[in-house]
Parts: sequence; C-alpha cells; structure tokens
Amino acid sequence: MTEKNFDITKLVELQAIEKIIYKKAFEINRIKKNEQLLKLKNEYENVKESCSISGSGLEALEHDRKKAADTIKMQEDKIKRIDEKLFSGTITSAKELMNYQEEIKQLKQSNENLEDRELKLMIEIDEKRPAFLELTEKKNLIEKEFEELNRHIEANVKEIEKVISELKNIRLDVIKKIPAEILKKYDELRKRKDGIAVSIMKNNFCQACSVQISAGELQNIKDGQKIHKCPMCSRMLVINSDKIEEALKIYESY
Ligand SMILES: [Zn+2]
Repeated sequence: MTEKNFDITKLVELQAIEKIIYKKAFEINRIKKNEQLLKLKNEYENVKESCSISGSGLEALEHDRKKAADTIKMQEDKIKRIDEKLFSGTITSAKELMNYQEEIKQLKQSNENLEDRELKLMIEIDEKRPAFLELTEKKNLIEKEFEELNRHIEANVKEIEKVISELKNIRLDVIKKIPAEILKKYDELRKRKDGIAVSIMKNNFCQACSVQISAGELQNIKDGQKIHKCPMCSRMLVINSDKIEEALKIYESY
C-alpha cells in the first residue's frame, strides 16, 4: 500500500477508535472506584471488628461459666465420695470424722459461691447475646449488599472490556490499511497534540483548533483524497465528506 491509493477515511476511523478505547478504559477506572462499594467495605470491616470483639467477650463468659459448672460437678462428686466413706462405718477416729465433715462444709460453701457465680455469668451472657446476634445479622446483610454491588460492577466492567476487545480488533484491521509512514506521523502527532493527530475541516474550519482556514490557504487545501496540514495547529487535516461522516457514524453507537 502506498500513500497514493490510501483511503484517508481509515485515518479518521483510527482516531475515533482510539478515542473510544481510551474513554472506555477511563470508564472502567471510574466504575471500579465506586463510592458506595468503598463505603460498604468500610462499614463491613467496622461491623466485623465489633462482632469479633462481642463474640470473644461472650466466649470468655461462656468459658468461665463452664469452668464454674465443671468445678461444681467435681466438688459434688467429691462430697458424694466423702459421704459414702462417712456412712461406710470404716472411720473410727473422731478427729478424722471431724476433718471430713469440715471438708464437706467447705466444699458445699465453695459450690454455693460457684453457683452464684454461674448464675451471674448466665445472666450476663443472656444480656450480651442479643447485641452479638444483632451485629452478626448486620454483618451478614452488609456482606450480602457488598457482594451484590460488586457482582454488578464486575459484570459492568466485563461488558466494557468486551467492547474494548472488539474495538482493538477493529483497530488492528484499520491499521493494516494505513501506510506505515503515515501511521508513524500520526503517532508522533497524537503524542504531541493531546491525543488528536487528525482534524477534519468542516465549512473551512479546522475542527481541532477551531481556526478558519483563509481563502489563500484554501487554494492548497482542496483535494479530498489527500492529507493536508492545518496552518494553525499543524495537525493532519482532511476535508470532511459524506464518506467520512458515514464512517464515523458507526462509532457513535459505542
Ligand atoms: Zn487546526
């Protein structure tokens, strides 16, 4: 392919495609930075933390309660064993008898204290459990909401990525139809001129820099098949045509 048989519409198309790809990538960035999602994530982390603290507190209380209950049970067994010994008739020493009776008394007193403690712990557990359950429910709700929104966002992003991938394929096809030297110039200009290398002249105005081309300059800018140069912004300038408008229309739907 040479510059002579090259269709300048392709150059305009290339720029339109690249502009859309850039916009779509920007859109993905914006979608991913969803404020509601960040808010939900923060809320979730906070509730999770509170839930964990509340849960640990309950666990510690339950641990203490069980320890008290186990000790009560152990001491009851011990009382039973001593009782059996006392009624077996094998103890003859009065001192030994008194010692055992004293031990039973102490064990019973200890169990009374432990039962008080167990009851207090049970009341405290009952008082604190509703708050824990409420936090757990709140945590689950936020998690669900977060996941739903995240799924929605990911689906959106995937959709846009699909379009970008389509456009990239179209771009490769378009590039094949542009001579290498023109492509090189296009890339250089694009970098220097804020992403716009090609401008269309409409009603004698350069669309990129909005400057009217003078009558004198128009003498040289007549050929619709050629790439000209804007006297003001130095971009590649092509004359608008139905063909160009038709070609660009396809990209309006993106
Ligand atoms: Zn211009």
